[in-house]
Amino acid sequence: MSSNNEPLVVQRLEKRFGQVYALKGINIEVRESEIFGLIGPNGAGKTTTLRIVATLLKPSSGDALVYGYSVSREPHRVRGLISYLPEDAGVYKNITGYDFLRFTAEIYAPSKREAEEMIELGARLSGLGGRLYEPAGTYSRGMKRRLLLARTLMIRPRLAILDEPTSGLDVYHAVEVREAIKRYVAETGAAVLLSSHNMLEVEYLCDRVAFISEGLILDYGTPSEVKEKYGASNLEEAFIAAVRGGKR
Ligand code: ATP
Repeated sequence: MSSNNEPLVVQRLEKRFGQVYALKGINIEVRESEIFGLIGPNGAGKTTTLRIVATLLKPSSGDALVYGYSVSREPHRVRGLISYLPEDAGVYKNITGYDFLRFTAEIYAPSKREAEEMIELGARLSGLGGRLYEPAGTYSRGMKRRLLLARTLMIRPRLAILDEPTSGLDVYHAVEVREAIKRYVAETGAAVLLSSHNMLEVEYLCDRVAFISEGLILDYGTPSEVKEKYGASNLEEAFIAAVRGGKR
């Protein structure tokens, strides 16, 4: 079905927390230069999926392959190819945004020159301008989110895993973040797996989407395909129709 070199192939992935079946055998593929959106309501299993792909959680069964490397058996290989933006990530309050980016670059960049390039990219992606030189503790929630997104993308992952990338952002800054994600993919050919509750955002941002509910993928395809399938005028309507199990 898929080649081993796809950015992501999720195969019959299951995750159980005690009695709770968070994932009941999901399959997803993310292709090169693709922004793939996992969308669904609270508790659907989005974060669990992203955390497994990010090698932070072990699957109960099934697997996820990142460029052919198994998250269960070769997590160290996977970690060299991904970068993860958690939903609830925080920043260090007492250091400036610039220093936060600089520390990250010093960890990831193999040379001083590449570290400088990373910082420059991060500064640009953050869109924080002069505020980058102020302590991150003084930033608004949206500014912190932009700094964290910049940190996630500046290391140039081949697969970026973004949990609710625009959570807490106003419309204006959400648009900026979406454009930064699109630009990153266009410039690097990397792939993005993201989760969102915001179906309108996903419609604008994602090449393909999967509807997830109660640990199952209900449907997937391009936004146009899924809308057409359910005779819906937007993804929200299509999602509701998919949950109800058929056409409206
Ligand atoms: P949200 O949109 O609210 O972030 P989500 O789609 O990301 O939701 P998950 O966080 O993946 O959903 O949770 C899926 C299910 O797994 C939920 O029923 C949740 O309560 C359960 N769950 C997740 N993590 C744990 C855990 N560490 N221990 C027990 N149950 C968990």
